[in-house]
Amino acid sequence: MKVGILALQGSVQPHEEKLKTLGVSSLQVRYPEQLTEISGIILPGGESTSMIQLLKLNQVWNPLKEFVKTNPTWGICAGSILLASRVTNPMQECLEALEIEIERNSYGRQNESFIDKLTPNEVWKSFCSKTDPIEGVFIRAPKFKKIQSDIQVLFEHRGEAVMIQKNQCLASTFHPELTDSTLIHQYFLNLCGQHH
Ligand code: GLN
Repeated sequence: MKVGILALQGSVQPHEEKLKTLGVSSLQVRYPEQLTEISGIILPGGESTSMIQLLKLNQVWNPLKEFVKTNPTWGICAGSILLASRVTNPMQECLEALEIEIERNSYGRQNESFIDKLTPNEVWKSFCSKTDPIEGVFIRAPKFKKIQSDIQVLFEHRGEAVMIQKNQCLASTFHPELTDSTLIHQYFLNLCGQHH
């Protein structure tokens, strides 16, 4: 199994290291034809506006929009913004993989980055019985504002959803690649393995 990491901009290397630790090979994805080589894709954190420009420049935007409809996909922070169906603050285009509205830079300027414990919901607890708390690293993070009712929430922070799932598509507004735990990467790899 080979897992793609969109590598046009942003936090790519920490994901490569996590996948390596878990014994899975990764591929830096920059061109459309590479999408045929991977079992799933990570859309990393970074700057979503720049990613959109580069995706279009490399003609990956439309093929990626198709890919994320049916293949295991995990968007982190800027990547979760790409997966939404509506983006605010300001508005921008998105891949419309998840029926959510997302607000960019939603924690405000005074509090752009922080680390805090997350509250797991039932979906996560049934995957992982370990009691170790999961920490969320939030960097100029967005917030999910409207979430369609058939979307599952895996983690909350102060009563607000910060990681969600619909079928093979995951989105987190925090950065699991920047903490020591590999559990959330394992969860995504499970999705990639189950999907044929
Ligand atoms: N603020 C960034 C954006 O709107 C996201 C930040 C991140 O990915 N850490 O694209």
